[in-house]
Amino acid sequence: MDVRVGIGFDAHRFAAGRLLVLGGVTIPHPRGLQGHSDADVLCHAVMDALLGAIGDGDIGRHFPDTEARWKGARSLDLLREVVRRVARCGGSPGNVDVTVLAEVPRLAPHVPAMRKNLAEVLGIPAARVSLKATTVERMGAIGRREGMAAMAVATVRVRRRRTRP
Ligand code: MG
Repeated sequence: MDVRVGIGFDAHRFAAGRLLVLGGVTIPHPRGLQGHSDADVLCHAVMDALLGAIGDGDIGRHFPDTEARWKGARSLDLLREVVRRVARCGGSPGNVDVTVLAEVPRLAPHVPAMRKNLAEVLGIPAARVSLKATTVERMGAIGRREGMAAMAVATVRVRRRRTRP
């Protein structure tokens, strides 16, 4: 078994008239995130981390925002598709560790539901899904509450190919 590691980062702007969806959970907030899909920045970071671990490009390549079929897509479903890609190359997610950078809203009350969603889609126990949130001490664009960002690290366990005789 080989263990691969990948990193993912994503950021989205807040926009009026949108639902705020993070880790597949709709969080009560006056503004949501702008994007072609549901703009679930947390899921997007995890997807890029998994794709990075298997060296299979990035979310923009597999789910381009120029394609109508991804418009309004649930990112949790897109994540499910990425997990299928991982499985196709003989891999399975090991664990993920995510940090969300946001000045608002407070995410702690929603962490258990988000972990449960991610664990279910990744096919791993919730104990292997770590979700953390931090503010940025009011510095920069995120500090001005213009949007939020997420970074993620994921491991993928890949079956070793049999060596040829
Ligand atoms: Mg994104």
